[in-house]
Amino acid sequence: MGGHRVAITGASGRMGGELLAAAADDDAAEFVLAVSRTPEAVASGDAPNAPDAVVADSDLEAALADYDVDVLVDFTVPEASVEYLRAAATNGVAVVVGTTGYDDADLATLDAVAESVPFLRASNFSRGVAALRRAVRSAVGALPGYDIEVTETHHNGKLDAPSGTALTILDDIDEARGDDAKRVHGREGDQPREGDEIGVHARRAGDVTGEHEIILAGNEEVIELTHRAGSRGIFAAGALDAATWLVGRDPGRYDFDAVLDADRDAGDTGASQ
Ligand code: NAD
Repeated sequence: MGGHRVAITGASGRMGGELLAAAADDDAAEFVLAVSRTPEAVASGDAPNAPDAVVADSDLEAALADYDVDVLVDFTVPEASVEYLRAAATNGVAVVVGTTGYDDADLATLDAVAESVPFLRASNFSRGVAALRRAVRSAVGALPGYDIEVTETHHNGKLDAPSGTALTILDDIDEARGDDAKRVHGREGDQPREGDEIGVHARRAGDVTGEHEIILAGNEEVIELTHRAGSRGIFAAGALDAATWLVGRDPGRYDFDAVLDADRDAGDTGASQ
């Protein structure tokens, strides 16, 4: 076993479990530390490449140094995440962030972290969503004046709405249109559509991993672009790829697209065999 040394926070969560499982297939990394506010609930077991240690989040800062961690992968909640990322920055540990739902004060903290260590945040670590975003930018650019609505669906335990991915796609649409459109979240009562507004709809139901649908409608035609995640494993694999790519880079902000570009150049497209 060799390679860079990875820690994950939120190890008892849905994504934490996926990262623990994905780490077993990750030859590039040595998986040294799983961190949770409830370490007793972390199901690391005797899996191949199980973490060397499972520790309480109150011990994170000391553990990052003790276990000589190179990169921290964080999928938690904003209030915990900002503290975890501060601890990583203090220890010179690179960070890959999948957490969503930050407010402006949190984002200022993330900016400060990104000044001191290599930092890669993505609201979605799937290759398919990266491709969807490109398709959306292209369609929006080609179809000025079309009405646009964004709908996302997630499991009933999701905290933030709309999803981080939906917000990223909305930013993409603004960029492609060169404006800052009014976002209308759901509609009720007398609320006819106005000009360039973008409707945003968040559905929460069952165990849906994540779906994002963008419709563009002109007169007499509708274009629908949809991504459906089949499992959380795609996000975990993408985040671990990002961790491998990030270690050893200069402090600063990096984009998941750069990781995917490097994978494509190396012939690894993530396609099923
Ligand atoms: P989850 O609720 O299953 O897990 C959250 C984890 O955070 C748990 O380990 C929980 O113990 C911990 N936690 C919650 N509150 C805490 C607190 N106050 N202090 C310390 N720890 C706390 O959630 P999840 O489905 O694993 O999602 C986690 C985050 O990742 C969410 O923000 C979600 O939107 C995001 N996510 C991102 C992607 C992506 O590709 N970027 C994909 C899936 C989920």
